[in-house]
Amino acid sequence: MSQQNVASLPAWAIAGHIEPQRGHLAIDGVDAVELARQHDTPLFVFSEPRIRENIDRLKRAAQRTGHPVHFCYASKANSLMAILGVVRDAGLDIEVNSGGELYKALRAGFRPDQIVFNGTSKTEDEINQAVGAGIYAINVDSLYEIELVLKAARTLGSRARIALRLVPEVETRSHPGLQTALLTSKFGISAAEIEAAFSRALAHPELVHLCGIHIHVGSQTPDVEPFTRAFEVIWRHLVAIHRATGHAIEHINLGGGFPVTYLRDRAQAEMLPAHEREMFEADLDPAKLIDEVLRVARHEAQRTQAEHLLDRLTLLFEPGRSIIADAGVLLTTVRNIKHRPETGDTWLLTDAGFNLLLSMSTYHWYYHLISAARADAPHDAPYKVAGPLCDSGDVYFDVERQGRLPDYRLLPRDVRPGELLALLNAGAYTVAQMFPYNGRPLPAIVMVRDDGRSALVRRRDSYEDLLANEIW
Ligand SMILES: *Cc1c(COP(=O)(O)O)cnc(C)c1O
Repeated sequence: MSQQNVASLPAWAIAGHIEPQRGHLAIDGVDAVELARQHDTPLFVFSEPRIRENIDRLKRAAQRTGHPVHFCYASKANSLMAILGVVRDAGLDIEVNSGGELYKALRAGFRPDQIVFNGTSKTEDEINQAVGAGIYAINVDSLYEIELVLKAARTLGSRARIALRLVPEVETRSHPGLQTALLTSKFGISAAEIEAAFSRALAHPELVHLCGIHIHVGSQTPDVEPFTRAFEVIWRHLVAIHRATGHAIEHINLGGGFPVTYLRDRAQAEMLPAHEREMFEADLDPAKLIDEVLRVARHEAQRTQAEHLLDRLTLLFEPGRSIIADAGVLLTTVRNIKHRPETGDTWLLTDAGFNLLLSMSTYHWYYHLISAARADAPHDAPYKVAGPLCDSGDVYFDVERQGRLPDYRLLPRDVRPGELLALLNAGAYTVAQMFPYNGRPLPAIVMVRDDGRSALVRRRDSYEDLLANEIW
């Protein structure tokens, strides 16, 4: 733990985890400059204590309610084995969305009854694996997929647990690319087919047990309302099914989407359009969200005279980003510099491009950039910053000039090649999406453990690894 006075920390810091120490950035007390010296850059560094803290915050919020509330970590946010290990050890369940993630979850030691399987294009093999393993719920995405599950259960002679994924038609203020709940989105069963889906799901109780209903409103959702409205939609169906058939749904799954405060440091906030700013500065307390959902739940249960159905109901959430984003930092070195008197700009060229931070390019996602070597120096000098890829889109600003990222990044004066920088809140949807574009080996990853020691949890790829599986 840091000895520093919290009030003196920079706005981007997370006290005790991500903060300046003796001028350098430190992750749980481990010097980032020293880590970069040992492991080279680009280098991802994760804080195990911060992951546990993020999980504990959720578990405390759930416990306070006295109602069964469970969390399935959305492994697509980051399915590094070391991270799955921490998540499992901290007591969360898991959400997967492919046979590969199912495999990793089982290898990481999750029990089948801790696993929820989402996805729009599950293959018969994947469905067989899920049914064979006996997972908690396969979230079926279409009427057609119900038939696939029935077929798998019949073939394997076992009984599958399914939940229906519905289109909630709930709009959020998140990025349009992240809105998964609208009818224009590819996810879920739409209103027109819901009745048929319930009827098929209940047609063969010996093969398929309909245990839940699922809605995921979208990632980085800054408000409570989309969640409560999704609950209301699901509740309506749950009561209707019970009235019509006597079947009691065991769980309501409200998906993930708990937001992360990417604009902890607001120095560049005004450079973003209001809509983006509101999303990136979102600070939604999970306790408030869960309390509010349960308040609406009790109200709905009373209104529909179905309190007995609520008493037996488990509430599930599938948070990914909010568990892992702020526990990860991407360290990058300035490898080149150019001054352009024509525009008055200084350009810094780093070794971390969109091969490591895909959403900086696809969603123009904002990752706060600091100097890890001069972490407590004033960050007031503007630079154009870009990554190493031979691709004009590999820049830290919005190349289409729609103003979705700041044009300049603020760093200390006089940054030179060799200076270590850090992109913060870089733990979610980064490692999970990295690729070796431009012949760039995938980076090493370090985790600072609970005992304060740093451990390599992924080796840097070698050039040999670039050829893996190629035949020539
Ligand atoms: C992506 C996804 C999640 C996780 O979303 P976060 O924003 O990372 O919390 C949860 N559930 C489903 C179905 C998803 O597609």
